[in-house]
Amino acid sequence: MKTGILALQGSFQEHLESLKLIERDFILIRTVDDLEEVGSIILPGGESTSMIKIQENNDLFNHLKIKILTGIPTLGTCAGLILLAKNSILGKSTLNILDCDIERNGYGRQNQSFEGKVQFNNFNDNYCFIRAPKITSVGSGVKVIAKMEDEIVGVQSNNIVGLTFHPELNNEQNYLNWLDNFVMKGLNVGAL
Ligand code: GLN
Repeated sequence: MKTGILALQGSFQEHLESLKLIERDFILIRTVDDLEEVGSIILPGGESTSMIKIQENNDLFNHLKIKILTGIPTLGTCAGLILLAKNSILGKSTLNILDCDIERNGYGRQNQSFEGKVQFNNFNDNYCFIRAPKITSVGSGVKVIAKMEDEIVGVQSNNIVGLTFHPELNNEQNYLNWLDNFVMKGLNVGAL
């Protein structure tokens, strides 16, 4: 089975590079048919409103949601996390499968993007926050897997992980090891 990267818009190319580095087969997801041979999923950063609009043509998100609910490892970064979380965007519903609330652009505008020191699982690094969402609350079954000082910046609920930052822009070995474990095994993620 391959790892499917949602490729409607945004930073899918960078995630593709991560998967190449761990020698994992991948497929770009643009249509419902692309979901067939997918055994894990990455939802990249970008512009969540645009992604929601683009997929309306072929009802992709309804099928994507069904696929994720089968329990396959799913990682969302930044806009990808926004798609997974509960909030609606411009009155349209997200996938709504990760029990946390987020505030879009919670750290400000594009020129207030920054690099922050993040404790992620059992390692830390400086990661980019690009018009990142803030996680404002997490549901009871949701584990915190990444923090920037006291702030929650990464969560996991069963097979679903959401990060507000962009580890695919660093692609350092600790992240790649984590990714390899995650897309292969799904649940090999420790809470902080
Ligand atoms: N601000 C974007 C949104 O709301 C997310 C930014 C990102 O993915 N880097 O969708």
